[in-house]
Amino acid sequence: MIVADGGEGRTACAFCDSEKLRLIADFGKVGLAGGFLRPEQFAAEKTYPMRLRYCEDCFGVQITDIVPANVLFTDYFYFSSAIGTLRSHFEAYAEEVTRRFLVAERATVLEFGCNDGVLLRPLADRGIRTVIGVDPATNVVATIDDPRVTVVNDYFTEETARRIRAEHGPVDLVMANNVYAHIPDIQGATRAVTTVLGEEGVFVFEVHDLGKVVNDLQYDMIYHEHLYYYSLISAMAHCERHGLVVFDVKPVPIHAGSLRFHAARKGSRRASAVSQAVTALAAQERAQGFDRFETFAGFAARIEAHRRDLVALLDDLKARGKRIAGYGASGRANTMIQWCGIDGRHLDYMVDDAPAKIGAYTPRSHFEIRPSSALMVPDRPDYVLVFAWSFLDEIKRRNSAYLEGGGRLIVPLPEIGIVGGR
Ligand SMILES: [Zn+2]
Repeated sequence: MIVADGGEGRTACAFCDSEKLRLIADFGKVGLAGGFLRPEQFAAEKTYPMRLRYCEDCFGVQITDIVPANVLFTDYFYFSSAIGTLRSHFEAYAEEVTRRFLVAERATVLEFGCNDGVLLRPLADRGIRTVIGVDPATNVVATIDDPRVTVVNDYFTEETARRIRAEHGPVDLVMANNVYAHIPDIQGATRAVTTVLGEEGVFVFEVHDLGKVVNDLQYDMIYHEHLYYYSLISAMAHCERHGLVVFDVKPVPIHAGSLRFHAARKGSRRASAVSQAVTALAAQERAQGFDRFETFAGFAARIEAHRRDLVALLDDLKARGKRIAGYGASGRANTMIQWCGIDGRHLDYMVDDAPAKIGAYTPRSHFEIRPSSALMVPDRPDYVLVFAWSFLDEIKRRNSAYLEGGGRLIVPLPEIGIVGGR
C-alpha cells in the first residue's frame, strides 16, 4: 500500500489500475479529519497531503493519498447509534431489505463496517437467522454486546471472507454502508464480497452520492477516510469488473444524499432484471458529464468561490465584533475549516453533542470543543456556523432556545445563508 508521506501517493486508479488519473483539487497538507486531540498532542500533530483525482477510464473519483488505517482509526470517535437521524434510517433500511430479499428464518446476513451494530440490531429484531458483523474498530464493536449478532473484529478481506464462508456457509445478503468509500484495497474488498456471496445473493452498499457532492457543492465530504466518491456509472463499471451487475439503485436522504446500490452476480435471477431507476440515473449522469473530467474541473472552481465567500462573511461579522461558534466537530467540519483556512480570527470555539468529543480540540485549527449547552450561557455566541448542516432540522429543534433568544445560525452549504435572529 502506498502511504501518504508527502510523495505522489497512489499513481494508478484504485478501481481499475489505470494510470489516467487527473487532478481535481489539491487540499494541501491537512490534519486528519478524525484526529481530535488534546493540547499536549499539538506539537506532535502530523499533516498529510490530500488530493482528489478522477480516472478517465472508469470515472472513479478518489483521494490518492492514503493514510494507514491504524493512524486513521486510533481513538475513533464515531458511534452511529448516538445520532437519532441515523437510528431511524437504519430501522427503515433493515425493514426494506428483509422484505425485499430475505426469508428471515433461513437467512444469513453479513455487514462489514458494522460500526456499533446500528443496522445489525434491527435486522436481528426481524428474526434473521444468522447476523454477522465485521469491523476492525475494536472499541466500537465492543459496544455491540448482543447475543444475536456474531461479531468478527477484523478487516473484511478475502481471507476473512473465506473463514466466514467456511463457518457459516454462503451469505444471502452482504451489506456495506459508507465503509465502501473507506477501504484502500477496494478491489480486494469486492473480491471478499464475491467470496462470501451466495449464487442468488444480493450485495447492497450505500455510499455518499457523487452527484450530491458535485451539484450541491458538498466538498466537506472529502477527507482521507472517504477515499472514493461514487456515481452510478462508476459503481457499475467497478461491479462489472468483479462479475456483478447493479440491478437497482435508490437515492436515500441520509448524510445529505446517498445512493444505495443493489448488485447481484452476473447470470443470477436478479441481475437479469435491471430496474428503470438504474437506466434513468445512468443516462442522467452521462448527460451531466460525470464521464468527463471537465465536469470536475468546474466543481473545483466552484469550491474555490465558496471558500472566498464564506471567509468574507466571517471576516465581516468579526469586524463588527460578533462572537461566532462552530457547530458539529465532525470530519466534515475539519475539511471545511482547513479548505477555507478558518482559524482563531473567524471562530471562537466549537460545540458538539457527542460527549466523547467534549474537551478535545479540532485537528490543525485547534478549536476547543464544548457541549452545546455553551450556546445557552450568558455570553453565548451571536452566530453559530453549522458545519453539521445536513442535520440542520435536528439542530434547530435541539437549540430552539438559542434561536428564540436571538441567536443566529450560519448555514454554509449548499448555499451560504443565515437562519434566525430577531
Ligand atoms: Zn479507474
